[in-house]
Amino acid sequence: MIGLLWLGQSHLVLGFPEDELFQPANPPGLVPLPNHRTPAYAAAAHFRHGVNAGDYLEASHPWAPINLTDLEAIQQEGFDHIRLPVAWHLHLGAAPDYLIDPAFFGQVDAVVTNTLQRGLGVMLDLHNYDDLDQAPEHPETVARLLRLWQQVAQHYQGTSGWLAFDLDNEPHARATTAVMNPIYARLIQAIREISPRRTLVVEPGEWGGIGELKHLELPMDDNLLVSVHCYEPFHFTHQGAGWVGADFQQKGVLYPGPPATPLTLDGTLQPKDYVQAWFQDYNTKPGPANPSSASAFVDKLHYVRAWSEYYGRPAYLGEFGALASVDPASRLRFYSDFRRAAERDNLGWCIWDWKANFRYWDTNKHAAMPGMHAALFGTP
Ligand code: BGC
Repeated sequence: MIGLLWLGQSHLVLGFPEDELFQPANPPGLVPLPNHRTPAYAAAAHFRHGVNAGDYLEASHPWAPINLTDLEAIQQEGFDHIRLPVAWHLHLGAAPDYLIDPAFFGQVDAVVTNTLQRGLGVMLDLHNYDDLDQAPEHPETVARLLRLWQQVAQHYQGTSGWLAFDLDNEPHARATTAVMNPIYARLIQAIREISPRRTLVVEPGEWGGIGELKHLELPMDDNLLVSVHCYEPFHFTHQGAGWVGADFQQKGVLYPGPPATPLTLDGTLQPKDYVQAWFQDYNTKPGPANPSSASAFVDKLHYVRAWSEYYGRPAYLGEFGALASVDPASRLRFYSDFRRAAERDNLGWCIWDWKANFRYWDTNKHAAMPGMHAALFGTP
């Protein structure tokens, strides 16, 4: 869980004008790579249909541990990779070595090794490293970041298979894209000295926000994948989530809107003007004009594709999803629409999550949540 730091902000793609069309910003630190037959594109072709193993190794109180039975089910369902969120920073020894606790590394390694052995890919990330979001200028913050990834790179130096390193999950707050650009450059250089060929994954600021791609700068490295996260329409996907603040506590939101019977807002939530306006449109507007519809993400995904093609950097959707507690039929329509939109734009995707709050898998029944398999793997 991201917890309190998340309040009120979350993964909203802030500042993204609704109908923004891609216009190359050509920041000086992002030179287009004309060759699309790069190792990064080869990796992107393998990280297509993924699932986040959430609420396990990144959580301070892990409650959804991934075991061999899960890995088998993940493969049988048709996923080709997992994304493994890991809170490495909570398991480091003292400066200057910051050694990763071997027992913890063993836990991570068990999942990585068993997943790769099945021929599935693993995108290993650094999750919830709050120091980077709060104090990115602090030398220790960056030293820890470099040291932990150097150790991970060293450990997997000879490991083959589709293993990629997602360098920092959802930078936000003070870890803006502009702040992250030089940090990523240093980190990539440090990892490249150990692992010249490993696929590395970079996320822009504002929680991996699509609207931030225009500020992203990247070294001339042909094995970088750019990952963005998108939880739109947020009032639908996160309705009532405990970690996202008051503006998203209204429940009963369907997908797509408008509902047959208009939703009456819970006045005790004291909805702000913009929330009321959102629900006004939700209750009344038909088709793509409704904010709880595919129009909440389709243009954004087009933008990602256009950005990616222009700069020759493959892009990937590292997180999307809706809480398991939302209306089940709406949830299926949402997952189906979203993953089809991603596939139309040739973007690999990774749902949040396997068996926690956004679950695909019902552990008690040892089966996919009803309809989820078809929503994700059914008709294109
Ligand atoms: C966070 C999870 C959260 C999910 C959906 C992830 O990035 O780590 O705690 O449940 O996003 O909001």
